[in-house]
Amino acid sequence: MKAVVVGGGIIGTMHALLAIEAGHEVVQIERDPRPLSASIRNFGLVWVSGRAVGPELEIALRARQLWEEIGNRSKIGFRTQGSLTIAQNESEFEVMKAAALMPDAHSRGFKLLDRNQVQAMEPVLQGKFVGALQCTQDAAVEPSLLFSGLREYLSSSPLYTWKPNFEVVDFYHDETGNHVTDINGNKVSGDLMVICPGSAHQGFLAEFLEAAPLRRVHLQMGATVPFGASLNHSIADADSMRYYPAFKDLPLDTLAPQEPIAAAYKMQLLLVPRLDRTFTIGDTHEYEEPFTHEILEAPYDHLRSVISAIFGTPAPAIARRWSGNYSQMTNGELYYRRELAPGAVVVTGGGGRGNTISPAIAEETINAWPQ
Ligand SMILES: Cc1cc2nc3c(=O)[nH]c(=O)nc-3n(C[C@H](O)[C@H](O)[C@H](O)COP(=O)(O)OP(=O)(O)OC[C@H]3O[C@@H](n4cnc5c(N)ncnc54)[C@H](O)[C@@H]3O)c2cc1C
Repeated sequence: MKAVVVGGGIIGTMHALLAIEAGHEVVQIERDPRPLSASIRNFGLVWVSGRAVGPELEIALRARQLWEEIGNRSKIGFRTQGSLTIAQNESEFEVMKAAALMPDAHSRGFKLLDRNQVQAMEPVLQGKFVGALQCTQDAAVEPSLLFSGLREYLSSSPLYTWKPNFEVVDFYHDETGNHVTDINGNKVSGDLMVICPGSAHQGFLAEFLEAAPLRRVHLQMGATVPFGASLNHSIADADSMRYYPAFKDLPLDTLAPQEPIAAAYKMQLLLVPRLDRTFTIGDTHEYEEPFTHEILEAPYDHLRSVISAIFGTPAPAIARRWSGNYSQMTNGELYYRRELAPGAVVVTGGGGRGNTISPAIAEETINAWPQ
């Protein structure tokens, strides 16, 4: 079967990859010269620890397995580095104790560590903290390598065609199949079509997505200069437990109120060590459009003070700042899938875990295709 994938982000690219491996011919279309949207602006985290019990954890664990397999056959910087969520005081540590006793703690790879155990793993953490919740299932890819690595792998298949600089402005279905066209009337056709537009809910998709339970979320991010010593885990602060659904039934009301700046920008500290020894840090969340066009300083002053407190040394300077948008479901479902016509679907709305669950989303699409 010939499949057309619209969108060069991670959701589209995972569809292309799994479709090729299932023996389909694939043309993948992208409006930009290379992917420039959410999928290269993120932390690259494959974040299992915070997923809600039930289907969300199940899809994340399946995706984690697929990521590892894909990471073994392509150069994407996949690392099973795990994470440490740091308790900076006793009340945070008490909540982490409860997390480590959750019925599914084992499948998440949760382990409660005291300060000495944390420092045995990460001697560079010399600040004021009590202990940490380790998650051995958390992993990461390098956003800077991800698409070159996946494209190299895909391009080694004679079944794959990459078609950048093609902005789809129309979709239609007729008796010969599914078709998309650009502004010049150029057409790409296939038996099967998967449209993965990310947060581009407008344009030719507006008529299909107008009433969809989707919203866009705006985030601000940063990257530091290289850090002088090695760090082998991703780091989170306990604010992350306020936002991740895995922890919603734990006694979060025993935590001290969030710092006003962190509460105002719906922040948590996530810090991912990169292969070049820089740290990707974030993040803020904005849910109401129109989003601010400004990159703000105050939230990052806060994040640097948290880093400094955990590391016990001044936080490395921020070298680069950027922002990004993702598409998120507003009704609690894991992601959005809608049939546009026989053999054609739109898939988006993976939210802040879109990178994490992307291969499992693609697997679900492709398993539903005729063989
Ligand atoms: C700052 C930030 C940090 C994040 N951190 C993480 C994380 O660590 N872990 C995690 O799991 N998730 C994370 N996420 C979420 C994750 O990045 C997204 O859910 C995911 O990248 C969405 O992938 P996508 O392919 O749907 O969208 P996108 O990456 O936005 O890709 C969509 C692509 O479709 C193309 N396109 C759109 N319209 C057209 C058209 N008409 N014609 C042709 N091409 C078109 C766009 O150009 C784009 O390249 C983060 C998101 C952000 C913004």
